Amino acid sequence: MTPEKTLFSQIIDREIPADIVHEDEKCIVIHDINPKARVHLLVIPKKPIPTLFDLAPEDKDLMGHMMLLLPQLAQAQSLDGFKTQIHTGESGGQEVFHIHIHLLGN
Ligand code: AMP
Repeated sequence: MTPEKTLFSQIIDREIPADIVHEDEKCIVIHDINPKARVHLLVIPKKPIPTLFDLAPEDKDLMGHMMLLLPQLAQAQSLDGFKTQIHTGESGGQEVFHIHIHLLGN
């Protein structure tokens, strides 16, 4: 049986619409549908890793890539500061089990 595609994989594959602000070979960046700040972006790897607990050593470059992207995205949104959040596991408030970094700024 093929495992069910995550919501974010469906967005990456253009099966569900989203407001995309950036895409490259490793990740996609969208506006959160329920923003908690004036700017609320989600940085999502194309690889559907469920949670930070599932990271493997080979994901180092991918995670580094997304971290380096954060200040670039913030500057493109004219932010001079921002917060980041990564929810991990149900008890960590995670709702979508496909790793993503929240970027929040006002
Ligand atoms: P979490 O898993 O708790 O880190 O949060 C998942 C985030 O995904 C929430 O902030 C939701 O508002 C956001 N979200 C859920 N569905 C969509 C969607 N279709 N497009 C954009 N953002 C979404």
